[in-house]
Amino acid sequence: MKLPAFFKLQFPLLHSSIFHSANGLAVLVATFFLWILPKTVIFSQEMSRPDTARVVVLGYHRFEDPPRDPLAISSSEFDAQLSEIKARGLRVLSLEEFLAWRQGNLRLAGDAVLITIDDGYVSCYNVAWPILRKHGMPFVMFVYTNYVEKGGKTMTWAQLREMQQAGVAIQSHSVSHSALDVRKGRSDEEYRNWLHHELADSMRIISEKAGAPVYAIAFPYGRFSRTVQEVASAVGYKLQFTVVGQKLTSASKDEELGRYVVLSGKPEIFKTAINFGGSMTLPGVVLETQPAAGAYIGDPSPLISAKLDGFGKIDPGSAELWLSGFGKLPAVYDPTTNTISFKIRDRLRAAQHTARVAVKSGGKRLQSDWDFVIDRKLLFDALVPENEGTSKTRS
Ligand SMILES: [Zn+2]
Repeated sequence: MKLPAFFKLQFPLLHSSIFHSANGLAVLVATFFLWILPKTVIFSQEMSRPDTARVVVLGYHRFEDPPRDPLAISSSEFDAQLSEIKARGLRVLSLEEFLAWRQGNLRLAGDAVLITIDDGYVSCYNVAWPILRKHGMPFVMFVYTNYVEKGGKTMTWAQLREMQQAGVAIQSHSVSHSALDVRKGRSDEEYRNWLHHELADSMRIISEKAGAPVYAIAFPYGRFSRTVQEVASAVGYKLQFTVVGQKLTSASKDEELGRYVVLSGKPEIFKTAINFGGSMTLPGVVLETQPAAGAYIGDPSPLISAKLDGFGKIDPGSAELWLSGFGKLPAVYDPTTNTISFKIRDRLRAAQHTARVAVKSGGKRLQSDWDFVIDRKLLFDALVPENEGTSKTRS
């Protein structure tokens, strides 16, 4: 009997031993169905679960040739980055689509990107918008209302309205661009009132002046606290963005959506952001980790943890946590949450880290790796708007 190449590949032993017998064909058919059945069951379970797509949010600020500081990017580099996104076949979401995905009303067939631009510099209108339009890509502007119509590099409400009418989402970046987690000697009541003003008034002003529904905020400097998140949610922000670069999944929190802040002179940030290949050693296993896979974080002494649900049933006591440069960590496994974790006590010196979680399941070793980057300066010092370049003390 002559076998198609496919079956020779899948069943090399069957080919040599069985197919010379009279019942060869029947065995082949039975084996084929046994082989295909478990996959079919897994597939139908997949369909009822939330999608496994990952979404990356990119954060930009100014566009100028040549860029005068890291927060500015040249028009040619921006153009090349958008081409790269397209070349990789990544879908660029509008904010409406992103919200629909967060709320489980849009299922993504593959990984995707959301493009955001902060502060409200006129170069967004003059330089970035024509390039984005050329590529047919939707995007989001996060503006702080005190910076609109102040002359110089600021935008006018007419320009913002024009963008909104053309489909650009105009959203909030607060009223004053203050670090919202800093109380500055305010009493509880004063602080809450001030937060309410920053969050609710920016929402109201933008929706009135730009004529757009406002339901997303990018926290200035990416800084927030539990109180900031609470007030923002109460005011009506469904999406709250920070600056910890990470791959978002359906499990990410809507009150803490990380973004990669793209800086000129740091091409590795953009590269890391749009690299969805990942280093997961088990295809299909998506673990909920801290820091998130591909994250840029500011804390040099992070909690490293992984929820092990993606591995299925694991052998008791078999979970291990490893870190590049350290080896196996004396990590703690919590059976109630199925999470293994370890808090780094000293400061991690290197910028780039790879964490590994390993378990045994039915005596077989399974493992998964993920990378993260520590860059404190990038996250907390670089995000001062240009007109405040000399007053960094506030953050
Ligand atoms: Zn800003």
